[in-house]
Amino acid sequence: MPNIAVLTSGGDSPGMNAAVMSVARNAAYYGLSLIGIKRGYNGLLGRSKNPEDDYVRMHLDTVLDIADLPGTWLRTARCREFLDPEVRERAVKTLHNLDVNGLVIIGGDGSFNGAMRLCELGVPCIGIPGTIDNDLAYTEMTLGYDTAVNVCVDAVRAIRATSRSHDRPHVVEVMGRDCGDIALATAEATGSEIVVVPEVKWKVDDVAAQLNRHIAQGNTRATVVVAEGCWRSMAPFDVYKFLLPYGKEVYQGEPMTANRFASVLKRKCGMIEARSTVIGYTQRGCSPTARDSMFAFEAGAMAVQLLKQGISNQVIGVKNGRTFHMPIDKALAEKKHFNKKLFRLINSL
Ligand code: ADP
Repeated sequence: MPNIAVLTSGGDSPGMNAAVMSVARNAAYYGLSLIGIKRGYNGLLGRSKNPEDDYVRMHLDTVLDIADLPGTWLRTARCREFLDPEVRERAVKTLHNLDVNGLVIIGGDGSFNGAMRLCELGVPCIGIPGTIDNDLAYTEMTLGYDTAVNVCVDAVRAIRATSRSHDRPHVVEVMGRDCGDIALATAEATGSEIVVVPEVKWKVDDVAAQLNRHIAQGNTRATVVVAEGCWRSMAPFDVYKFLLPYGKEVYQGEPMTANRFASVLKRKCGMIEARSTVIGYTQRGCSPTARDSMFAFEAGAMAVQLLKQGISNQVIGVKNGRTFHMPIDKALAEKKHFNKKLFRLINSL
């Protein structure tokens, strides 16, 4: 029976297990046997003493149990050595030894670059976008994004309830190193008053002025949703100089955090209290929403069908609400457009 393999790579995202299950069910349907590669590209390098730590033959009954589990059952990891062409040759040998003639890679743009290199070496590869950040331009959604947004929306709703009780503003940090989509969607869905993202340059004083505007209108409990990467697009602001102005110990250039930002806003807006919450990894380690699970189901099916038809070097995505595929290089060349119109609307109300 011909073999195909599947791996999850880069940061984990909700729905990776559901996609693996879909690949397994479709492989079984077409009479292909499936090998699960452990810890991203690491599992192809033959470094573990026990081969079971590098790859496993995946049977339907095992896979059926994992579909709605959070995390990734196959494990995931980064693999710096994979940037080395000689190491990639070794990976190809492993795949040949396992009689694998098709590989499904679930990960982000880095993982897709690895997939392209493997295609160049004659291994047919298909990529499924697994990343909560939604930072891939070619697709309307990535696996895990919808789940991450829903986790953030639940958290912000709870935070806004307590903000209301105490009449105090709250800074909420969500994930998104270079992409503010989670922050933007969370702010939109929760009616949060202010959103700050990496894509738009900003100043602490401008956000303080925005918050002051809400306070002047009687809203003393506004929510400021910030993306984790937004501090890099902030105009320089010396937090410690501002918070400890009496010549105690001044740490020049101390980085801004959600907690410090809340303290700065409290002082700048004359509030008695302002709080902060970093939602963090709950966004990644959560069971997938129906929407992510549905995309996982369709993407897994399409990946196996493409391999079966001898089509490779493709990534799967969603366009106009429908699952589609396109060449990896063209997909990675697309430039992500941030929804500035929505960003301005939220911040101007
Ligand atoms: P993500 O897939 O979530 O973007 P990374 O950028 O960390 O995560 O990439 C995941 C892995 O993909 C890397 O650890 C490496 O093994 C592989 N990879 C990334 N870039 C390349 C590249 N240019 N060539 C080959 N492999 C790569």
